[in-house]
Amino acid sequence: MTTAVYPGSFDPITLGHIDIVNRASRLFEKVIVAIVKNPNKKSFIPFEDRMDLVSECTRHLENVEVEVFEGLTVDFAKSHRAKVLIRGLRAVSDFEYEFKMSQMNKNLSPDIETIFMMAGTDYQFLSSSMVKEVAMLGGDVSKIVPKVVHERLVKMRESTCCT
Ligand code: ADP
Repeated sequence: MTTAVYPGSFDPITLGHIDIVNRASRLFEKVIVAIVKNPNKKSFIPFEDRMDLVSECTRHLENVEVEVFEGLTVDFAKSHRAKVLIRGLRAVSDFEYEFKMSQMNKNLSPDIETIFMMAGTDYQFLSSSMVKEVAMLGGDVSKIVPKVVHERLVKMRESTCCT
């Protein structure tokens, strides 16, 4: 059974991420969406809530699981007997960072292969950081994030915005 791990911050999950999960779920018997809990990186949405949002958005896919992890991605993959890491690649911007990361993971764990999936054409320029920024300035992101994420962002904006 081929298990693939799709690691990331998913802070928040966007339609670009979901497109990758949907496509990966058709290629692998099991896909684990692994939310990185990085104590050195300030979260926008707490990881427990990110876990709920990602679970809600991938509930329609029977072979997809969601987990939170700390530490090295390759160690997480090994602990789940996963031999594949999935990463998404957007136009130009992701290449260098992703290339370095995949080389490092290969050094750490030669048995684990990183597989890159090109971002869908509609999602090439979509990033969580852009979504956060626009949403907190009151912009409409309903077409680029799942409904539950949009609702959450609207609530966050309302709670930070003066009345
Ligand atoms: P990280 O902090 O690990 O980069 P992200 O949540 O930003 O976490 O991204 C997780 C993975 O999803 C990365 O491989 C990233 O390149 C990919 N990704 C991010 N946005 C998109 C998108 N719009 N379309 C396809 N892949 C994406």
